[in-house]
Amino acid sequence: MRVRVRQDASLLRELSFPIDPERYFDFSADEGLEVTDERVTWFVPASGGELRYTVRIDHLRDPARYDARVTSRWALFRGEDLFPPARTRRLRESEGRFTLRFRVPPEWEVLSAYPPRRDGGLTVRNPGRAFSQPQGWFLAGEVRTLREDVAGMEVTVGSPEGDPFRDRDLMALLRWIAPELQAIVPELPDRLLVVGADDPMWRGGLSGPRSLYVHSDRPLLDKDWTSPVLHELMHVVMRARSRGGADWIVEGLAEYYSLELLRRSGTIGAANHASAIANFEARGREVESLAGDHSAGATTARAVVVFHELDGVLRDASQGRRSLDDLVRALAEDPEATHPERFRVLVDSILGASMDSFWRRWAPSLLAP
Ligand SMILES: [Zn+2]
Repeated sequence: MRVRVRQDASLLRELSFPIDPERYFDFSADEGLEVTDERVTWFVPASGGELRYTVRIDHLRDPARYDARVTSRWALFRGEDLFPPARTRRLRESEGRFTLRFRVPPEWEVLSAYPPRRDGGLTVRNPGRAFSQPQGWFLAGEVRTLREDVAGMEVTVGSPEGDPFRDRDLMALLRWIAPELQAIVPELPDRLLVVGADDPMWRGGLSGPRSLYVHSDRPLLDKDWTSPVLHELMHVVMRARSRGGADWIVEGLAEYYSLELLRRSGTIGAANHASAIANFEARGREVESLAGDHSAGATTARAVVVFHELDGVLRDASQGRRSLDDLVRALAEDPEATHPERFRVLVDSILGASMDSFWRRWAPSLLAP
């Protein structure tokens, strides 16, 4: 990695990020560099300069499965893997322009959620951030790509050449549910990158800004009607992040709406939808508290049931004028509003009445101080 800063005054003064020394090493800069085992700090010269380091891309998510991987023919990783989240000191109100360039073999292509420039670089701009680091999924290499318009989003589906990833089926599902997606979240991103790969990549789905990964082996629709790709898609379009130990809100909404997309698009009928909800009920029955930073399995199943109930209550109490869709749209505009207190206020504001009695029954942790 080479981070080159061009400036003619001391605008960007300091760049520092935490590092895992096993993964980030060989740091050097012409001047102003401080490296410890945990942190790198670069005091950026007023006339600009260059910071250099090496990143080991391969990263195991569990003992045998990668969530970042490079082979001789392709590389699949997130922008955050190359450039860890940095803290900066800079002149107030100053803003940077960021271009990312890869030097790759001539037959390689680089896919990302960022728009390519004519000179082959990528313009990196993260909405609302003065200092933009590369984020989201990247696939570089000898790749197979498929491009389509999905509800106004420029969607690219990519996988390593020769990989069994079912890009066409996946694109067909996205285009099929597109009208329903747009009705739920009117402000969709301009671009979306979907990448997939087979073993030894991680056997699940993972979302990033304007991008998502799903393992080649995962079905579009599972036996219990869950859909890994639609679940990750909902994470991407809602952008909601888990705050204050309320990961169940983020995971439950993604799971609930992946099922809603199937129901509203007519992909599954009423009876199968009811059995999917019953399945979530059974799986989440033993859950006593939803609170926690990592909602999965039974907790998320329980959260789906809570949102199913909440949707019913919102519709009944407003004679059908309000629904969970209003909540999703509000969260898409304010992704930090999943913090329990703010979330409660948000739901109350949608209905114009207190929902405390609902939460007392369904999610008491939301009312705890
Ligand atoms: Zn999720």
